[in-house]
Amino acid sequence: MSVRLDVERRRHGTKFRLFPQPYFLEPYSEPETVWVSSPAGTVGPGPSDDRMYVIDPLGKALPYGSQRGPRGSSYIYLPPWDGQVGPPAMPNRFGHFDHLEPGTPEFEAAHLFGAVRWVLDIWEDYFGTRIPWHFREEYERLEMVVLSQWDNAQVGFGFLEVGSEVSERVGTFPFALSFDTLAHETGHAIIYAMVGLPTLETEEGEYFGFQESAADLVALLSSLHFERVVDHLLTSTSGNLYTFNELNRFAELSETKQIRIASNDLKMSDFAAGWADEHILAQPLTGAMFDIFVDVFQENLLERGLIDPEVEALSDQIEKHPDYADLIQSRFDAAYEGNHSGFKEALLDARDYLGNALAETWGRLSPHFLNYDDVGRVLLEVDRQLTGGRYQQVILTNFRWREIGDVAVGPRLAKPDEASHSFSDRTLQPDQGPVQGRLSYAARRRIARNGRRPAQ
Ligand SMILES: [Zn+2]
Repeated sequence: MSVRLDVERRRHGTKFRLFPQPYFLEPYSEPETVWVSSPAGTVGPGPSDDRMYVIDPLGKALPYGSQRGPRGSSYIYLPPWDGQVGPPAMPNRFGHFDHLEPGTPEFEAAHLFGAVRWVLDIWEDYFGTRIPWHFREEYERLEMVVLSQWDNAQVGFGFLEVGSEVSERVGTFPFALSFDTLAHETGHAIIYAMVGLPTLETEEGEYFGFQESAADLVALLSSLHFERVVDHLLTSTSGNLYTFNELNRFAELSETKQIRIASNDLKMSDFAAGWADEHILAQPLTGAMFDIFVDVFQENLLERGLIDPEVEALSDQIEKHPDYADLIQSRFDAAYEGNHSGFKEALLDARDYLGNALAETWGRLSPHFLNYDDVGRVLLEVDRQLTGGRYQQVILTNFRWREIGDVAVGPRLAKPDEASHSFSDRTLQPDQGPVQGRLSYAARRRIARNGRRPAQ
């Protein structure tokens, strides 16, 4: 969201504390305060407001979605939860939720609510309109469920449900505290609402990659709304995102998962023989968008006189001359010294340019026969309208480098596995059930494809 709106929210909104990244990563061990759009005093116990509510269901054994009954028959399990619930997180007397202590179930519930609400706020600002739920004809509000013993996270018809991840390194990590996961899931909900789903007759493989790419870009740009993420990104690179990205070294240095995913070097020819996982198929598109972001940032630095054109010229040659890397870094270090606020402004401008351009682009796309070159074509059109075409060359160069529009993606090589997001519990709807009995081909296929997915 724009810096101006952020200031406005600080006056009237409701306070939450969010971990920008998992708390076991330095320098993110302390949560950061954010203000969501709901005016202080309007968010009730849960938390809950007019769009969504969090519950801790007691005795809920299974996640929502397609389930098997005792005799092996399938059925669709959807909200609302009608059993007992644990104690809700309560606001303080000013209506805020920033008094809750990490390590308590109430903090987790507030973190879940605050993250989803904040991401929705950020993207409603980019879209310039309220983002409705795709399930609005059936449910008024999104039910957000903490299901601690489950090892997954998903958004679906009327629900967003999160479990926990168990690893040797950190023990149990609740997804309710994973901003990246929550922002990614909210990203899927945004795309379901604003782009929609193709039918079996109109689906293209690239649609599935587009869904994952969009969810990752929602998470990436949302995470750049945390002061600490932006400050850390700049202090650890001196603003030299371009060189790091070109050399693909940035990924190793960054503790930010979304940036690790986005700074990849996959091209369409890597998928010419076919593809199996839409999260990987997503990467050329996500990578193109990340490179556009970095290029726009660099243009902003040049325009503000914060770097000189020679640095940009050197950066352009880095692929052929990797030995320039140290020289470029030293030039950035010198330019950044004493200019943090100018660099930060340039970064936030690049963030908001891409956020606005993506929202406008997604709003114009049809889910039917959708391919990455459609995204590029509409983005160029949107850029002409937003900026008078200032970034045409940047967009064209990055889409071409990824071979988008030049190389076609091959066939899907494997049946959707457990990680598949698009046809799954997420997209099951009440009118497709109960599963037994007469069903459309589409519903049977969706159900056949259903599986448990790792959160990603
Ligand atoms: Zn996903």
